[in-house]
Amino acid sequence: MKKTYHGSCHCGEVSYETQLDLQAGTFRCNCSVCRKKRSWLAVASPEDFRLVAGREALGEYQFATRKLHHLFCRNCGVSSYAWGENEALGTFFAVAVNCLDDATADELVNAPVAYVDGLHERYDAPPEETRHL
Ligand SMILES: [Zn+2]
Repeated sequence: MKKTYHGSCHCGEVSYETQLDLQAGTFRCNCSVCRKKRSWLAVASPEDFRLVAGREALGEYQFATRKLHHLFCRNCGVSSYAWGENEALGTFFAVAVNCLDDATADELVNAPVAYVDGLHERYDAPPEETRHL
């Protein structure tokens, strides 16, 4: 069941509200940027994501196919969410579940984690090795 969560960067300049069902799944990815950031994400649709504050504080990083907009707070550096578009999902938000201020430890511990092989643009399959992600 979806629940409303509040997420933010470390300094708090960037904050958002999102409706997520963490029990429906989260993911970790082995692409070059997720690996470096050890991203832990959940997907939200546009109607389930609202930036509350900090639009002017957001920096954007893009690379390779430039399909994803990797956002970070220019003040504290924390990447609290990203957004992108693809054929399967349309426009989507990738929320950093570790930035959800009101997700309980219990909710996070019990959220299923799927691993995706973003390094090879395969989002329907896990990579061979996942332990370092
Ligand atoms: Zn910040």
